[in-house]
Amino acid sequence: MIEIIVFIIIIAVVIKNSKKKSQPRQTPPFTAGQKKPLRRQKPEAPLPASSKADEPLESRTFIEPAKPYRPAYNAGERYEEWMPVPEGKRVCRCGYCGADNLIPKHSDPKNFTCYFCREEL
Ligand SMILES: [Zn+2]
Repeated sequence: MIEIIVFIIIIAVVIKNSKKKSQPRQTPPFTAGQKKPLRRQKPEAPLPASSKADEPLESRTFIEPAKPYRPAYNAGERYEEWMPVPEGKRVCRCGYCGADNLIPKHSDPKNFTCYFCREEL
């Protein structure tokens, strides 16, 4: 009988050892999992900004732009398909972004830039 009990204990120890051996195999994924949260912490940095979006509008401060936005002097005018084309203008599609620009009818598109992406038309 003692031999059987010793045999069972040996088996139990072997099973425990096998579990201990399997644990280090599991730990690398755990450590990798711990590294991932570290990587996630960097993207979490903008989270306070998004949490600010949840704040009521009254607590936010609006910063006046130093310069008011002015389109380039030679920029085309925004044009949408539903808009009527004004007299003396024509539609020129930007080769870069595909936005439709209104430019003077008999002018060279190369002299104009896209109102949207500022590429030459
Ligand atoms: Zn464009």
